[in-house]
Amino acid sequence: MARYTGAVCKMCRREGKKLFLKGDRCYTGKCSIERRSYAPGQHGQGHKKNSEYGLQLRAKQQARRYYGIQEGQFHKYFLMASRHEGVTGENLLRICESRLDNVVYSLGWANSRAEARQLVNHGHFRVNGKKVDIPSYLLKAGDTITIKDTSRESDKIKSVLESNASRPVPTWLELNSETVTGKVLALPDRDQIAAPVEDHLIVEFYSK
Ligand code: SF4
Repeated sequence: MARYTGAVCKMCRREGKKLFLKGDRCYTGKCSIERRSYAPGQHGQGHKKNSEYGLQLRAKQQARRYYGIQEGQFHKYFLMASRHEGVTGENLLRICESRLDNVVYSLGWANSRAEARQLVNHGHFRVNGKKVDIPSYLLKAGDTITIKDTSRESDKIKSVLESNASRPVPTWLELNSETVTGKVLALPDRDQIAAPVEDHLIVEFYSK
């Protein structure tokens, strides 16, 4: 299935919550959901009745959209999560968080997960010193992430680093701003994951 290329703010309005897909704009009054907090389309302001299935479906869609993951891959992550020990919903979010594109965004090296995906695709990053250009690459505890030397000198990367210098980094990651090196200290627990989704509803959705 092709990646969604339409207006990303519509996805937030469809889900009825901020999914933070547009970088800085999401934190300003220009955020579309702050101005029009109803679903897009002709019937967007109509009465909505959510069935149990509808709530589960929306939770799954919210997580997919928040991380920018397509359905097939997200379902694979669910199957992987259900084979791991522990709570499946937490395992699922932990897998999504450990993707290289998400970590690049979380370190403040991209303005959005979509931009992080593009920068990874363009080969700007190293994992443990080796080039990795696969956005879905899953990182492990102890992995270090760096920016390719020549990329660090590019205006684009310099401007992104500067504009995100004060963005807090999740506690399961470590950022050395001097050497511009990121490290995965440990994969995150649920309370270290900011994703605005109810993971138990996603598990119910796929468990039918
Ligand atoms: Fe658009 Fe960001 Fe607001 Fe979502 S949170 S509606 S992506 S500006």
